[in-house]
Amino acid sequence: MSIVSATEENIEQASQILQSGGVVSFPTETVYGLGCDTLNKEAISLVYTLKNRPNNNPLIAHVSNLGDAKKITNGWDDRCDKLASVFWPGPLTLVLNKNKCVPKEASGGGDTIAVRCPSHKTAIKLLTRFGGPISAPSANVSGHTSPTTAIHVQMDFGNELFVLDGGACDKGIESTVISMVGTPTILRPGSIGADAILKIISDTKVQKSDRQNESPGSSDKHYAPKSKLVLQTKELIQNQHGENIVFLVINATPNIGVLVQMPSNPAEYAKYIYAKIREADSMNPKIIYVEKPPNSPEWEAVNDRLRRASS
Ligand code: AMP
Ligand code: MG
Repeated sequence: MSIVSATEENIEQASQILQSGGVVSFPTETVYGLGCDTLNKEAISLVYTLKNRPNNNPLIAHVSNLGDAKKITNGWDDRCDKLASVFWPGPLTLVLNKNKCVPKEASGGGDTIAVRCPSHKTAIKLLTRFGGPISAPSANVSGHTSPTTAIHVQMDFGNELFVLDGGACDKGIESTVISMVGTPTILRPGSIGADAILKIISDTKVQKSDRQNESPGSSDKHYAPKSKLVLQTKELIQNQHGENIVFLVINATPNIGVLVQMPSNPAEYAKYIYAKIREADSMNPKIIYVEKPPNSPEWEAVNDRLRRASS
């Protein structure tokens, strides 16, 4: 049985698998991760192989405490302390120069390492039990939609993988990524918005999300469903015709096709975005039309993921 509930015993077993260089999946508040020992390069390679992830796409190291974050990075400063004190545990990832104790395999071959302290209680328990950083990309085959339940993980990796079940993820989209090398720069939008970060570090820059070359995995063609996904305004959706269409709508009421209702609140939308895209995709439609959410800042992370799913 690959999916197990997140009991103390099963968390202990997951920790032992990690200690022996293996890979487990565990829940975080963003998405499910495919975790391994950050300091074990063979274990890291296994994650890349399992995911079929390009070698230059770096991983996020998860920690349960500031000490571990400082241990694997170089240049942790007051600004990092401030961000961590406000946003950790939570969905903010800091990119810093990596400490030499971290194998280059753990950072996609580069000189920097991404680190975050998750808030999900199972993730924290696993990190504490394991006693060190756990590198974990999203637990999906590269290019597939990110998993927000244990079943989603099993759909990509089958019964062999040990999956700690912690229920559906609360945030539902990947963390906000900020580079702390030089001028703080937001590389990937997430549920922690730029406005909240600017209140803490006022000179933070925001990398345009269509040009995130400093965050390699932020390239387009991510999170892609099998079916073609097209973003459209409410007005265009209302007038669609044709067969075998699924609509993800907020306000639109098309007369044809299957309707999947999406929340009108950005945080709720984010929470269900991947599960709803999967639901639409599982009907094997010719096309999935998604009603474009508003263009306002609070929708930025959702719009970013929809844009990638449609590219
Ligand atoms: P995920 O696939 O959600 O685990 O997120 C990993 C993503 O975080 C990568 O694809 C990058 O976009 C970003 N990231 C991780 N490490 C770094 C790094 N060292 N420098 C810049 N971005 C990074
Ligand atoms: Mg991913």
